[in-house]
Amino acid sequence: MAFGELTGFLNKGFGSGFESGLWPLLERKGIWRPGIIKYQFNNNDVEDILKLPLHNLEEEDTSCWKAAKDDNYSVKTGYHNIIKWEAKPNIVRRSNNNDRTMWEKIWRSKVTPRQQILVWKVVQNIIPSKDNLIKRGISCDPFCPRCPTVMEDTNHCFKNSDWVKHIWYGSPLNLKFSNTNEEYSEWITGNLGNFSPNNLATLIKIVGGIWISINKLIFEGQNIPVIETIKQALNTPINSIKPPPKTSRK
Ligand SMILES: [Zn+2]
Repeated sequence: MAFGELTGFLNKGFGSGFESGLWPLLERKGIWRPGIIKYQFNNNDVEDILKLPLHNLEEEDTSCWKAAKDDNYSVKTGYHNIIKWEAKPNIVRRSNNNDRTMWEKIWRSKVTPRQQILVWKVVQNIIPSKDNLIKRGISCDPFCPRCPTVMEDTNHCFKNSDWVKHIWYGSPLNLKFSNTNEEYSEWITGNLGNFSPNNLATLIKIVGGIWISINKLIFEGQNIPVIETIKQALNTPINSIKPPPKTSRK
């Protein structure tokens, strides 16, 4: 799906309620003002901000409560929504002591806050993979851009696809993922305790590099090879990275 189409879907999906207070950053309603944004924010943030969808409708912003049919908040619908949330542990993960230790290690890790937040989103399964976009009501083709018959979900992006398996194996972590039903988030929470601080930083950087490469392919049509993805993720000279194995690549 082209980025323009995605923006269109996001506009439909999110509707109004987004732009209040943003007007200094807007050319006019629905259009970002890139010059000001580039001046005010660092490069990484500029890219993210300009990707945020804006709607062009002339309607005024209003607030609404999606859990109620008439969009108005009531204690009853608030209560029912909390009960629903509690019943779905996958949507909001509960923290236990192991989780807490893991997050402390992640927050202390020598990587950028952006990389830390990405890992957090991956573990919560809230990255905008195509299956998650579809769950949010955004219509797009559900398939991985590299594997036309496989649904792009978090597991496929970070653990199950051949491309990503080569990245993990070719990385200094030398990880081999087998085809099990284990969720990638479960794998992270189960294994992170065994990682040294250096390896943990490497893992977090590679998660970041994988996500950048996936997005470059979807939005810019740029197919970044395995070795280049590892190199960019770790920001190290290419000749220090072991080439990935040639077997089982489709
Ligand atoms: Zn794939």
